[in-house]
Parts: sequence; structure tokens; C-alpha cells
Amino acid sequence: MPAMQYFSTRGGETVSIEQAIMSGTAPDGGLYVPTQLPVLQPADFAGRETLPEIAEQLLTPFFAGSSLAGRLGEICRQALDFPVPLRELESGHLSVLELFHGPTAAFKDVGARFLAACMERIISDGRFATPPVTIMVATSGDTGGAVASAWHRRPGMRVVVLFPLGRVSPRQQHQLTCWGDNVISLAVRGEFDDCQRLVKEAFADRELAGKNRLCSANSINVGRLLPQAAYYAKASLEHWRKTGQSLSFVIPTGNLGNGFACVWARRLGLPIDRIVLATNANTPIEDYLATGQWLPRPSIATLASAMDVGNPSNMERLRQLCGDITSLREEVSAMAVSDAEIRSSLRDEFGRHGLAWCPHTATGLHVYRHLAEAERRQRHWAVVATAHAAKFDTIVEPLLGCDIAPPAELAALLALPSRFATIDAKLADLASQL
Ligand SMILES: *Cc1c(COP(=O)(O)O)cnc(C)c1O
Repeated sequence: MPAMQYFSTRGGETVSIEQAIMSGTAPDGGLYVPTQLPVLQPADFAGRETLPEIAEQLLTPFFAGSSLAGRLGEICRQALDFPVPLRELESGHLSVLELFHGPTAAFKDVGARFLAACMERIISDGRFATPPVTIMVATSGDTGGAVASAWHRRPGMRVVVLFPLGRVSPRQQHQLTCWGDNVISLAVRGEFDDCQRLVKEAFADRELAGKNRLCSANSINVGRLLPQAAYYAKASLEHWRKTGQSLSFVIPTGNLGNGFACVWARRLGLPIDRIVLATNANTPIEDYLATGQWLPRPSIATLASAMDVGNPSNMERLRQLCGDITSLREEVSAMAVSDAEIRSSLRDEFGRHGLAWCPHTATGLHVYRHLAEAERRQRHWAVVATAHAAKFDTIVEPLLGCDIAPPAELAALLALPSRFATIDAKLADLASQL
């Protein structure tokens, strides 16, 4: 197999997968994508049923010729070691793809654990980076917990998590601050945007970045995106093997990583039919599909806070892949969901099946219920469940009037002591903590 190379969505020279993973973003500000997409067929996955088995088959061409090629099976088994069940809710029509059974109860565990497993091996190899390195990440909630969990106690690496003081849910805050060892948790007096600005300033400060060997683990890293295609492969193959039909997806969307991974999976030859993106009141994607004008804007706070994104980064990858707005419209459609609709969706679904979902998953279920009648009848749909309801207890419990018990792994984290330092949104304050 020839070595796979990666290039920036803005052009430029190609790099290896190791370089793409370690640098996160391309030097020109673009996002790394593979120079070619392999084409597979369902038959290529014969005999493969578990997520690690399917992920290894799917990802092998993307790691061809790299130092990780021979270790991909081991990486997949180690990183993707929790279930991603496709649960049928309404026979022949509706399933839910549950991605919240990982250690921090959101789908971000998939990408974070895979990226951490890759980075640990790349760093110990010594050719692409010299340990110890510092992974620095700004979070509005879920990403920081997944990254801290994935990197906790890994040799040669430490993690610095910055979160906005008082702007994350109490359970999210606990997940960001319960680690210790090689994880430093910093509460920043400010907004999420201040955290993100501080991280950018730290990377731009040559002395600070050099001394600490700063590395990023943000959601645009290609090493987080690739493994996400694997759960779409697993779910669609499972459905195809049972029914001979393709599966359609509704995907709660913010930065468009999860949605883009599904587009990749379909391009790679998996039996996937429609892809519908569900957003909250942040609507640059809907507006782009309607008008052909890409107008990113500041984000609006909603109940589905992990999707409060006014400038979805992965649109750059989708536009690069599609070329123009006409073919982009053939690839995906999108529907926006208001906070009032999120509330009624949470209540309706609880009434219908007795199940409590998170506010993000509720946007997906709302969109499914509002598809055109024929769309719903002619296809089998899977709504992607992106987080466990117990992570958003302060929203979900009062609406449904019942307690939502956290899953065992989340409960174990909530029982640990919480430790963090509080800093002003200034680079000097951040530097003094490193
Ligand atoms: C991150 C996140 C999303 C949005 O996913 P993107 O890949 O950014 O589109 C949706 N739901 C939850 C719970 C999340 O944590």
C-alpha cells in the first residue's frame, strides 16, 4: 500500500500522518485532509463485528506507510474499548446510536482516546517530538473532560485544561478538575472565548511554546476525526447485514466534526443513505445551505451548549471535499432547533418511550420527528446520541421531574476530589502555572 499523505484544506505541501497529528492545524491555518480517499465495500469488512475490528479495517489505508501502521490494531483495541450500541426504538423506522458509554459519557471520548493512543506512540518513537510534551486545550465543557481522561497518567505527556469559571455545568466542572497527576486544571475568569484566546496566545509565544513543547488536541486534529468514521461504519454495516438496506443518520452538530466523519464514512463506501445535521439556534450551516453564503458569526448560548458554535471549523473540510454549494447540498441537509423545541422534545421522548436524553440528542430527535412523512417512512433512521442525560442533569431533571442516575464511570469520577487553580485571562498568569 502506498504511504498516505495529508495536505491542508488551503493547499501547500503534504505531510505524514504523524506530522498531521502532532501539529493539529496546518501552518497556513487550514485543516489536514488525506490526499485521497480509499474506496471500500461492505464485503471488505466480512467477519469484522466489533468497533475495534471495524475501525482497524477502515483506518488501515489512512495509516499506510506510517510508523503506526503495524500498531493500528492495538491502538483501536486500547482506545475504542467501550460499546457504541445501535438501539432500535421504533421497529423498522428509528434507532439511536448511543455514543455516550465511554469514560466521560460523551462521544468526544472516541476521538480523544484514539488521538492520545496515537500521540503516545509517536512521542515514544522520538522522531517527531521529544518528551515531555504539554497538551493544552480550551473547553466549553465536554472536550476538556474527554482529553483529561484520555491523557491521564500517560508517560511523556501532561495536559493543561482551561475552562471558563462558572460557565460549565457542576458535573462538567467536576470532570475537568478530578484528575491530578499529569493533568493541570485551570479555571479562567472569563468566557470560553477568553480560554481559546489564551491557548492561541500561548502557542504563538515562541519561548513559552518551545519550552513546554506545546501540542494541541482540539477537535480539528485529523487524529480525532478519523476514528469517528468507525462508529458510522459499525452501525451502518450492522443495519445492512440485517436488512440489506442503507442507514440514514440525524446528527446533532456544532463544530461539524461528527457530521463530517459520517460524510467520510459514506464516501469510503459504507452503506449510508441520508445525512441530516441537527443544530441549535446557531445556524450558519442552515443559512449556508439556503443561500450559498458562508457567514460565520459569534455564538449564541443555548440549552445544547456543546453545539454553541458560530463558526463551525469543519465546514472548511466539507467545502473542500464537495467543491461547490450544489454538491454540498446533495451531501447533507440541516435543520435548526430552538430551545423551546429542545424542551418539548425532551418531554415528548420521555413520555413516548420513558427514556431521558441529553439536550443535544433531543435536537436530533426533534429533527427526526419533523422530517417529511415520506422521508421517514421510506428509510430507517439512526439519531446519534452524543452525551448521557446525566451530564446535563441541571437541565434535564427539572424538565422531566425525575432524578437521572449517572452511569457507573461518571459516578466514579464525581466521587473523586476536585482540584483546580483560578487565573485571570492573561498569558502571564497561564505561564506561571506551567
Ligand atoms: C461536541 C458535542 C457535539 C457537537 O459535535 P461536533 O462534532 O462539534 O459537531 C454535540 N453533542 C455533544 C454532547 C458534544 O459534546
